[in-house]
Amino acid sequence: MNTLNRRDFIKFLSASSALSGTTYAQSGFASPGSLARVVIIGGGFGGATCAKYLLKYDPSLKVTLIEKEEKFTTCPFSNAVIGGLHTIDYITHTYKKLKQSGIAIIHDTAMAIDAGAKKVHLEKNKTISYDRLVVSPGIGFQWDAIDGYDKAASETMPHAWNARHQVLLLRKQLEAMRDGGVVIIASPPNPFRCPPGPYERASLIANYFKEYKPKSKILLLDAKDNFSKQALFQDAWEELYPGMIEWVPGSQGGEVTRVDIKKMTVYADDDEYKGNVINIIPPQKAHKLAKRSGLSDDKGWCPVNQKTFLSTLKKDVYVIGDACIAGKMPKSGFSANSQAKVCAVQLVAELNGRSAVTPSWINTCYSLVSADYGISVAAVYRYDGKSIVAVKGAGGVSPLEAPRSLRKMEALYADGWYKSITADMFG
Ligand SMILES: Cc1cc2nc3c(=O)[nH]c(=O)nc-3n(C[C@H](O)[C@H](O)[C@H](O)COP(=O)(O)OP(=O)(O)OC[C@H]3O[C@@H](n4cnc5c(N)ncnc54)[C@H](O)[C@@H]3O)c2cc1C
Repeated sequence: MNTLNRRDFIKFLSASSALSGTTYAQSGFASPGSLARVVIIGGGFGGATCAKYLLKYDPSLKVTLIEKEEKFTTCPFSNAVIGGLHTIDYITHTYKKLKQSGIAIIHDTAMAIDAGAKKVHLEKNKTISYDRLVVSPGIGFQWDAIDGYDKAASETMPHAWNARHQVLLLRKQLEAMRDGGVVIIASPPNPFRCPPGPYERASLIANYFKEYKPKSKILLLDAKDNFSKQALFQDAWEELYPGMIEWVPGSQGGEVTRVDIKKMTVYADDDEYKGNVINIIPPQKAHKLAKRSGLSDDKGWCPVNQKTFLSTLKKDVYVIGDACIAGKMPKSGFSANSQAKVCAVQLVAELNGRSAVTPSWINTCYSLVSADYGISVAAVYRYDGKSIVAVKGAGGVSPLEAPRSLRKMEALYADGWYKSITADMFG
């Protein structure tokens, strides 16, 4: 334990066992003196966590985080902002403490990675050299997937699938909508960021309407035939918002293929639907930096060795979070946080000539159906020699038949989860 003092060790153990599942004994901390330059692109759930834990596991590393924004606004709890339960400030975090901990933070956009020369080209600054690179830039959108829907159209029909501007735009549109209006939400095909997200969003918009615009309706057009925590959501909708939310599955014409922003109309199958507010969540892929740098495959996501997160396409580059292909793990902030810790352990082991440890991961996705009605799905994951798989019998979903006291507790747990994971990343 030569690089950690006792207090750090205890802190690590509690954070790791609560949020990752990788144990100290498995991690094999580095001895000081590796002095390697590790650069991380993206200061979100994957990147910020990885930066922090790399430095914990090996304080001799020179860790540099490249993040384009000065502050990070989380997608988790952004549906609560859209539904009027929280302000945007509640979900906005600074990098102050990470800076104080010794991580060099450059607020700039990474334009391209030259893995051969081990350099990252930045927009404003020059290039930055690395010994190892961790990439966690999140998702990008398939702008050509829905006819008529591009980045410019998202200013009229927001996706609100990354936070801040788009979230505030959608909230503003909902506030301006007349009572009796129709909100359309188009939910994308798998895989996409936050599988329960569109359904939580419908719930929290309904929660807002119930109080302020009770004659309004929500039409959820879906590219899929089923969705995360479906029975729980649908039960809750019937109980809390009867007649307010209509869900159309893909096989019954739910997949939106075209939009007309001037007519505020979407087209799905042979039908057209007019909305007063239209939220299009487009099909997704890894962030465009991945393709530009040769890190993604023909489906648009980044293949990695799922034990270590080392890219299978570029040497000495690790990819974590939504951008990578991580077996059965959903694309969630908790997954990205858990992957970041495993990645940090494996990277430190690799730099110090030790073999990779046997990892495990966890994920819990809480969703709010109203301010005091929460539901969840949880799983534990292991590496099966090829990919990340769910551990049978570990985890599960909230029970269908449950007293309101349990739903209330789960809403409190959701808030506790948010506070602890953001403290883990930025505290
Ligand atoms: C509505 C909604 C609700 C959600 N709720 C939950 C939830 O309750 N629980 C949960 O676990 N997950 C939730 N998620 C999912 C979660 O937000 C993502 O899975 C998570 O953010 C992925 O982490 P990441 O590190 O891959 O990407 P991000 O957290 O998005 O981080 C990427 C970072 O990279 C930066 N970046 C991008 N490109 C560049 C570049 N070229 N140069 C420099 N910086 C760059 C971005 O600014 C960003 O800060 C939700 C998502 C949505 C949309």
